[in-house]
Amino acid sequence: MASHGGAYMGQFSGKTVLITGASYGLGEGFAEGFAKEGADLILTARSTELLNSVADRCRTMGSKVTVVPGDVSIEEDVIRVVQTGIKEHGKIDVLINNAGVSDMRGVSPENFDMTTWNWIMSIDLNGAFMYMRECGKHMLERKSGSIVNICSIMGSGANELNIIAYTAAKGALRNLTLQLGCEWADRGVRVNAVSPGFIITEMVRPALEALGMDKWIASRTPMRRIGELEEIVAPVMFLASDAASYITGHDLLVDGGTNAANGYYQIPPIHHEWNAETAPRVGQGYPGIQPRPDWYQALSSGIPGIHYPVPEA
Ligand code: NAP
Repeated sequence: MASHGGAYMGQFSGKTVLITGASYGLGEGFAEGFAKEGADLILTARSTELLNSVADRCRTMGSKVTVVPGDVSIEEDVIRVVQTGIKEHGKIDVLINNAGVSDMRGVSPENFDMTTWNWIMSIDLNGAFMYMRECGKHMLERKSGSIVNICSIMGSGANELNIIAYTAAKGALRNLTLQLGCEWADRGVRVNAVSPGFIITEMVRPALEALGMDKWIASRTPMRRIGELEEIVAPVMFLASDAASYITGHDLLVDGGTNAANGYYQIPPIHHEWNAETAPRVGQGYPGIQPRPDWYQALSSGIPGIHYPVPEA
């Protein structure tokens, strides 16, 4: 796998990139990716120490880095971070609206509490909007800027994960991307989104690694694997860059094919196995379901997510 960034030949030299949620997870990857391409950085999140260690690494790559700790859900913090960034760097060319939280408890919508709902909205939606508004004002004045919102594949369809507030927030953020992408399109400011599938970070590590959901998710992803950090960094840098100068209001799904398969592309069906051993039956029709015992054993030994009844053999 290629290292973060590296494909843009320093085209971010002289550009200033503000990244929210830059203390760990995807945001840390974005910081390093842009630093490698010559960008100067404004990094924000709540964990000052972690931000400082990301900043130190980026400085060794030659970036000027300003760390401004803050909470994206607090309006005064957002204004202070953006103003401090502009004061230190003179401008903000790119906003990577990345900070986000989810709720992996799996609480069903009919039991979902408003405290958690409001907490998630305040960060994933309100925080992201306030950053778009504050950076947008500045970019519109300069008639130049690029915003990339980190949404999620959960924002463009239903899912079975019982994360209703996250789904609502990301869906709203996706629509804001389309809306502001159009509203600001003729004033020099592009607004796009990247919607990742699953990448192992602190946000999803407990469910993916500890509960084994990584295998379930891989099973229903056409590429049959979860994504790598670098595979999110590169598309984000593309949309942020001048290479995407005619792209705005776009939500780029980076999900190994999940959405193309309507999210229901699950474990390979039995005919894949049949076709591997015999002449493909395509065109001849399948003679009903004629599963083998081992296929049924695999199903009955419990693959999470198989929620339709298994027919009698
Ligand atoms: P993560 O590892 O949990 O990192 C989240 C980042 O957001 C951290 O830097 C955290 O820093 C920051 N943050 C959280 N609450 C904040 C607040 N109130 N104010 C300021 N910063 C805050 O999560 P991640 O996986 O990197 O997620 C990054 C983005 O990608 C999120 O928007 C997430 O929804 C999206 N995404 C992730 C995946 C995935 O599979 N990982 C898939 C689709 C979309 P502090 O704790 O230091 O504040």
